Amino acid sequence: MKISGKIKETRDQVKEWKKQGLTVGLVPTMGYLHEGHKSLMEAAKRENDKVVVSIFVNPIQFGPNEDFASYPRDLDKDAALCESIGVDLIFHPDTEEMYDPDFSAYVDMEGLTKELCGKSRPTHFRGVQTVVSKLFHIIPADRAYFGQKDAQQLAVIKKMVRDLSIDMEIVGCPIIREEDGLAKSSRNTYLNPEERQAALVLSRSLAEGKKAIEAGERQVSEIKRRISDVIGKEKLAKIDYVEIVDFSKIEPVADLGAAGGGEILCAIAVFIGKTRLIDNFIMKM
Ligand code: AMP
Repeated sequence: MKISGKIKETRDQVKEWKKQGLTVGLVPTMGYLHEGHKSLMEAAKRENDKVVVSIFVNPIQFGPNEDFASYPRDLDKDAALCESIGVDLIFHPDTEEMYDPDFSAYVDMEGLTKELCGKSRPTHFRGVQTVVSKLFHIIPADRAYFGQKDAQQLAVIKKMVRDLSIDMEIVGCPIIREEDGLAKSSRNTYLNPEERQAALVLSRSLAEGKKAIEAGERQVSEIKRRISDVIGKEKLAKIDYVEIVDFSKIEPVADLGAAGGGEILCAIAVFIGKTRLIDNFIMKM
């Protein structure tokens, strides 16, 4: 397995593989890899001849008061995991390699990025789309793998690829959870033992919402109320948002009966102490 911090070296390697007729899968990450990332890498390994994992904590997707500086990093441990799965190349650039001092071109999108995380993180998806576009240009893979854990990001990247005619298949992968239900996240390391216990309220509240829908509830306000009530009972938790949207458009829906066979996304963001966690489920109506 190679590790490269350089754009040119990485691009040349991928081009060489393409020239040999090999297929390439890309898994973009910010590192501090866990079982969620592992599932993406394994899917990429199954479906492609070569696998590239990018590890880059992208400064431009963090807001000024967010956790860019404190975001956990451990390249040695990440490299060991990648090696054990049979990853062929890790692209691990530093900020200077990715962003010239006079960098000024961004990729952005109308709609889709305005709701959910876009409300509380107004520049986040511009940063995500810009870095993912750069990665797609540096690593012209056949397929790129993203987790449903970041469902809005998955919808945005799928639409970006369609709108900008980027020749890459976007593969969505299911959420991987701890045994007790907490969605795996690099940010879970911020939680102290009491907060870790409190964080179970995310998956528990979503289960309550899912149960209501399965029992026939169609009023979004009522489903949101039931989810919020569960979260409200946890004293360390503070709701950022509880929303139900049309998954392909990321637009609010009021009545699931009107969703017309499409997929709905029920997504929440909750502060547990100072740590903001997200979770969701997607349902075909
Ligand atoms: P990150 O390193 O947090 O930017 O995540 C990199 C990729 O891993 C994104 O596509 C995430 O959606 C995905 N991912 C993160 N956590 C999980 C999880 N628990 N299950 C599945 N995919 C995940």
